[in-house]
Amino acid sequence: AKANGKNNFELYHTGLRMENETRQMVLENGLRRAVEKKELFLQYHPLVNLTNGQIEGVEALLRWNSSELGRISPAEFIPIAEETGLIVPISEWVIKQACDDIKSLHIMGYNGLKVSINISGIHFNQDDFVKNISDIIQHTNIFPHCVDLEITESIIMPNAPEANNKLVKLKQLGIKLSIDDFGTGYSSLSYLHRLPIDRLKIDQSFIKKLSAYKEDASIVQAIITMAHTLNLVVIAEGVEREKHLRFLAREKCDIIQGYYITKPVSWNDLLFFLETWDPQAIMK
Ligand code: C2E
Ligand code: MG
Ligand code: MG
Ligand code: MG
Repeated sequence: AKANGKNNFELYHTGLRMENETRQMVLENGLRRAVEKKELFLQYHPLVNLTNGQIEGVEALLRWNSSELGRISPAEFIPIAEETGLIVPISEWVIKQACDDIKSLHIMGYNGLKVSINISGIHFNQDDFVKNISDIIQHTNIFPHCVDLEITESIIMPNAPEANNKLVKLKQLGIKLSIDDFGTGYSSLSYLHRLPIDRLKIDQSFIKKLSAYKEDASIVQAIITMAHTLNLVVIAEGVEREKHLRFLAREKCDIIQGYYITKPVSWNDLLFFLETWDPQAIMK
């Protein structure tokens, strides 16, 4: 049995090596059909308002359950979708689905609940990006102020003037704009204040290191203070521990997101989560 096991391991190992060369191709081809095969779906991750404990909105997170390869993480398939240009139709699907779902929640009585959608640079840089977004919003008949687009600094900074033009147009439509993963990119607050941004999401790497390094606490405090000076709403992501929540509440961080509240959930689980959420649970 032992020899057998070893054999299997070697076979598996060679297989893996071969697979590595073709994995990219299998992923590419799989992605091409993923939309029509209904292998893509969204999970939702709640954002909690720290001043009243209410659910302020949810972030849509794309998931892929490939018939050939099983669950693939967005960290692996989004770059491939970007290289192949497939990200554009995929993003359109994400935005439509997310807006549809949130519209349903509004109809169910969760008025004003926002949906945050991660935007790829490839999509953002398309000439018709703004029209694309406004068409979807019009079609789903969702309030634009309930749609929040998450954009990273790395999308904006390479061509800031042109990016700014698009952001201004999106703002004119009434859409909310957030900077995602703040602190990992150019982090130029002095530049950001000139952009029509509403919110800033502190990257989770800072939150995770909060208890280990005093410097990270200082950085988070400084980001919150500066962001508030610039009239930006501050969101902390990656909150996994109660003491981090307490620290962020003390520092007047506006909104948190993280496994301490819940992991991202399916649509059905989101309905249950919203129905059973007790705002008092995190207020102390
Ligand atoms: P992101 O937008 O910064 O999303 C946050 C990621 O951190 C998500 O991972 C989320 O599940 C995870 N997360 C949130 N709270 C915690 C926590 O407390 N602990 C830990 N360990 N993780 C936490 P996910 O879903 O794997 O997404 C990874 C990235 O993939 C996202 O980072 C985003 O950049 C990208 N992504 C996801 N969905 C989409 C999409 O629809 N379109 C585009 N263009 N990118 C997407
Ligand atoms: Mg995000
Ligand atoms: Mg992030
Ligand atoms: Mg990100």
